[in-house]
Amino acid sequence: MAHSCPRCGQPVQRGYNAGTQLAAGLIGALFYAAFGSFQCKGCGKIVQSEFPADVRTKIALQSVLMVLGAIALAGFCLWLMSEQK
Ligand SMILES: [Zn+2]
Repeated sequence: MAHSCPRCGQPVQRGYNAGTQLAAGLIGALFYAAFGSFQCKGCGKIVQSEFPADVRTKIALQSVLMVLGAIALAGFCLWLMSEQK
């Protein structure tokens, strides 16, 4: 799941934090993590266009899986709520 920084080769993390998760909720945080920029400890913010094409393909695939997971989670929550009526 970890990618290397295109500038220094160090591992980068997806650029989101706990505050974003609290503000936007779990599903919003998932979308933000899927499409947001990356964070390198050495270089700071890395936009996805800085990564080589093959890495961007992997990031996009992971993002699709994360969004599908978020949609499944939302559907499950809606199903739970409708069951409790
Ligand atoms: Zn870096």
